Amino acid sequence: MNKIAQIFKTLDYGPAPEGPEQANAWLDAHDRKFGHFIDGQWTKPGKTFSSDNPATGESLAQITDGTAEDVDAAVKAARGAFKGWSALSGYERGKYLYAIARAVQKHSRLFAVLETMDNGKPIRESRDIDIPLVARHFYHHAGWAQHLNREFPDAVPYGVCGQIIPWNFPLLMLAWKIAPALAAGNTVILKPAEFTSLTALLFAEICERVGLPKGVVNIVTGEGGTGQAITAHAGIDKIAFTGSTDVGKAIRAVTAGTGKGLSLELGGKSPYIVFEDADIDSAIEGLIDAIWFNQGQVCCAGSRLLVQESIETRFITKLKKRMETLRVGDPLDKSIDIGAMIAPIQVERIKDLMKRGVAEGAEVYEPDGALPAKGCFLKPALVTNVSPANTLVAEEIFGPVLVAMSFRTPEEAVQLANNTKYGLAATIWSENINLALDIAPQIKAGVVWINGTNNFDAAVGFGGYKESGFGREGGREGMSAYLKPAWEKDLRPAPAAKVAEAKAGNPLDASHLDQTAKMYIGGKQSRPDSGYSRAVLDNSGKLVGEVGDGNRKDIRNAVEAARAALGWASTPAHTRAQILYFLAENLDYRRDEFAARIKAQTGHDGAEEVALSVERLFAFAGWADKYDGAVHNPPLRAVAAAMIEPLGVMGIVAPPSRPLLGSIALIAPALAMGNTVVLVPSAQSPLSLTDLYQVIETSDVPNGVINIVTGDSVSLAKTLAEHDGVDGLWFAGNAEASTMVEKASTSNLKQTWTSRGLYYDLADRRFEGDYFLGKATQVKNVWIPYGA
Ligand code: NAD
Repeated sequence: MNKIAQIFKTLDYGPAPEGPEQANAWLDAHDRKFGHFIDGQWTKPGKTFSSDNPATGESLAQITDGTAEDVDAAVKAARGAFKGWSALSGYERGKYLYAIARAVQKHSRLFAVLETMDNGKPIRESRDIDIPLVARHFYHHAGWAQHLNREFPDAVPYGVCGQIIPWNFPLLMLAWKIAPALAAGNTVILKPAEFTSLTALLFAEICERVGLPKGVVNIVTGEGGTGQAITAHAGIDKIAFTGSTDVGKAIRAVTAGTGKGLSLELGGKSPYIVFEDADIDSAIEGLIDAIWFNQGQVCCAGSRLLVQESIETRFITKLKKRMETLRVGDPLDKSIDIGAMIAPIQVERIKDLMKRGVAEGAEVYEPDGALPAKGCFLKPALVTNVSPANTLVAEEIFGPVLVAMSFRTPEEAVQLANNTKYGLAATIWSENINLALDIAPQIKAGVVWINGTNNFDAAVGFGGYKESGFGREGGREGMSAYLKPAWEKDLRPAPAAKVAEAKAGNPLDASHLDQTAKMYIGGKQSRPDSGYSRAVLDNSGKLVGEVGDGNRKDIRNAVEAARAALGWASTPAHTRAQILYFLAENLDYRRDEFAARIKAQTGHDGAEEVALSVERLFAFAGWADKYDGAVHNPPLRAVAAAMIEPLGVMGIVAPPSRPLLGSIALIAPALAMGNTVVLVPSAQSPLSLTDLYQVIETSDVPNGVINIVTGDSVSLAKTLAEHDGVDGLWFAGNAEASTMVEKASTSNLKQTWTSRGLYYDLADRRFEGDYFLGKATQVKNVWIPYGA
């Protein structure tokens, strides 16, 4: 038989560059057993576990399970390297990043094949997406290193960063973590996921080859326990985590009160919305990529199809037909669409979830065709006939399972899209750009793709809203996540509040006062639910007034009012500015009265504080229409609009000092950016804020935008922290209460800022700028393709 006929008969491929030979040779060269990479040295393998090829079940290598001592050694190495690394010029650091990018490119095939063998993802993806994006990330951040001082003039690196990553994009997640950290001048300890350590170890060799100074990058392999040792280590200044929401929450709780920087990139259940005027064939191709890219093991997978009812039947029929052509099999075969799942345990988990969904009424479609006889393979699945409460709709499946639902109107599409605890990404298909751009801002997600999906670029930030985490990777916002203000190191403990504590005594002592200041909720003055009042004393212990003693119920009402007022976010920035200017003007008009009230409560002349408060309102009125986004130009036929959005409802607990400015300095940036606020003013001196109601009412502030609850700062902060209707919480108070606030905020992963008992001199004009603006906002990147 001649050769061609022979090939037709066997359908075997000839040798291809994607063959496993070189990767196997590299593994053999290491006797298929690895220690850690610490301080530029390879440690002897310790207690090990096996890293398996999920497509074959064969063991690829033994990986060391890092102990607390290993982590400690890595932290010491990183600390030792920090001084020298951070002192290098940005240009010098940039050259190392550039060299890493070049080396990754030079060995790209080895990286791609090794990644596919270790993870099971199709070689087409590791070769054409993962590894090129890794190189792009290092190139991009080489530039940031050099321009850092100009672009972030008052910022310094955190120091030693602990970085923990998942298994779905092993080398890419490593690049997203290590490149910005190094560019900023940090040193790192990175722990790859236990299933996929190999490319991180190969990367460590690249660091050696390019001569990266010892200790700048340390790779410690291991399981969850190794991750715990990292998050608990007192010598680490910042934790960057990508992984599941449950572990993210545990890390939030462990790091509470430590002052460590924290960014969390967590799970998702992203909507894929198809309107009736969409280009259906393109939307189907996009969907194939959205949900079956990397076997659906993608945090931002478009796993919830929302299709307009008028095209539902046609769309689903076409989709099923297209699913029949998807090829599942050997990931090293470059014509494969769907490779192997990461591990048998993940296959079992997905099968269990499917069983639960079916028991709840779901129907499952899977195309015909056999799966490979061995290995972790699953067929692509389409789930229909589900309600929003079905397990398969609500839970992140992290597998090749698409759930489909329909909607009638754009409003319903938005409602369904946002009906999830997650907020990572969303996709919108419509030929009507006006409609798409109207929907994009309404979706609570950090990334929105219009007529495309799964676009990623180093210059464009990526990250979540809600329980998908906080912080961004990529772009300017990703860089700033590895920097902190230089002045933070000069903060000193806050002096004890000078105002006398309320003395226990007869609660009726104050009965000669004819008026008790009420709360301010939803634009109305309201009595405290508790029916109790609190005495306000001056610093000599003399009674100067009474306020309501707010409780859980008052906070609930205030949050409800603040949520109902969220239209404030879409009020034009110009209008928000005008209202803040008006507030400032009206306050200024009554400056003598407010100054006298400050004096009565604190004994200090209040004139300066009132003047500063007016100035601060002016400052943030000025920012309202200026602190805005950017348009990125990634190397794809698209622009990405980085839009600055408010967090939503913010709880703000003001410091005890400076009764008026302490509150104004915090609420002004929040309001300027479109947040609505539940404010707890200084517990000792709340009268300056209860006096403000009339000023608020005469300044056109819409009802519910500012709500004020007086009472005990710590207990009200706890209620705010535990409330899932609060999206962000700032707390100025002692260290113990700050820890409590951070811990209690884990349930919906609200973003927090706490003063941890340190004195932030809010009169300082450094607080007139982006410090609080950045904390009151998050960036949404909307990708818009171009080209006919
Ligand atoms: P995982 O949370 O189980 O593990 C992630 C990493 O954390 C691993 O390295 C693991 O060893 C480590 N770890 C486990 N327990 C820990 C603990 N208690 N303390 C510290 N570290 C611990 O997640 P996974 O199964 O590896 O990855 C899948 C998840 O990652 C999905 O939820 C997915 O959506 C998410 N993910 C998010 C993004 C993003 O950018 N938002 C990207 C990729 C994956």
